[in-house]
Amino acid sequence: MKPGSGCRYVEGKEKRTVPYAKCGCGEEMKPGSGCRYVEMQDKHGKWHKRDTAHEPCHDCNAGVGKVHHWGCDSEDCPVCGGQIMGGDCDGECFNNGTGKIGLKMR
Ligand SMILES: [Zn+2]
Ligand SMILES: [Zn+2]
Ligand SMILES: [Zn+2]
Repeated sequence: MKPGSGCRYVEGKEKRTVPYAKCGCGEEMKPGSGCRYVEMQDKHGKWHKRDTAHEPCHDCNAGVGKVHHWGCDSEDCPVCGGQIMGGDCDGECFNNGTGKIGLKMR
């Protein structure tokens, strides 16, 4: 801090320097965005429409009615209704122990 240098962060003018995290679908997790992976395949090979946000998502920033970005804590499983990431479901309905989940873009 040199004398007279001043602070670069002027209140209210601070620029957002950290970019939004990018989802595997290629979209940035910006407020109001939605995931391009709209369907996911269960372990039996059947495709399901993915869960959408009922209110602006605090976790992945998906807008109302938009699909949660992949990896969001708030996404519910379309098969069992449990939380896909670490909840009741924990991917059980989908990856069949392989860790791989089929995702389809719009
Ligand atoms: Zn996404
Ligand atoms: Zn979300
Ligand atoms: Zn499930």
